[in-house]
Amino acid sequence: MANCLICGSDPTVKSHIVPRALFHDMKPAKGQLIGNLRDGPGYQHLQSGFWDKTILCAEHEGQLHQADEYGIQFCRTFNAGKKAGQWRVDVPNPAPELLVDFASACVWRMAASRSERRPEKWLGPYARRLADSLFHGIAYRPMLLVACNAYQLKKGEILNMGALPFRYVELDIHFWRFIVGGLIFDLKLDARATPAAMATLAVNEQAEVTLFEDFPQSARRTPGVGHALAALSMQRRSFRPPPN
Ligand SMILES: [Zn+2]
Repeated sequence: MANCLICGSDPTVKSHIVPRALFHDMKPAKGQLIGNLRDGPGYQHLQSGFWDKTILCAEHEGQLHQADEYGIQFCRTFNAGKKAGQWRVDVPNPAPELLVDFASACVWRMAASRSERRPEKWLGPYARRLADSLFHGIAYRPMLLVACNAYQLKKGEILNMGALPFRYVELDIHFWRFIVGGLIFDLKLDARATPAAMATLAVNEQAEVTLFEDFPQSARRTPGVGHALAALSMQRRSFRPPPN
């Protein structure tokens, strides 16, 4: 039996770290759907994402419902546009703060779930700021970037890939990144200045988000993702006993 991390009441309910519907949507596209392991780096074929039933009561999990639904709709609109064969997809974003809440909720739940119920172990002071924003209406709008997933292992084969939130560093800027529904979400929790070229990609104020087909990127060279993929490919190698 666990108590809600926000209000202390029990019972707690099932919280999906990233909404289940998003992983579910990804399955029919290709057989392959891969993502990170429950307990650390590594890879596995995903079923329907991951959940934790020890972090939130029904009321507080329910408070994230609107943001979850908004994120699901955003990804679905993107994928519907992409299927039409466009290299550029415009996705309406009438309530940008809800898209930020969607990403914030995924990151906070991940941290709460993997830290023995102490999200500050992962997020430091931003754990409280995220929780205050999501559950107590205290405005905190970390920068959010959204891009198309263009990760591939082989040329021309974009991975049908899901990844739960992990730390990601680019140009010395720290993000929490997760990948779902063909999109990469990067949430920047600190207030450190960003290069202007990166700041213009923020969707925090965008009533419509324009997503471009990205250049293929090597999944192996991406911190976090590369580590996980290396673990996967190692599993595939045949086992050779060490020489005596
Ligand atoms: Zn609660």
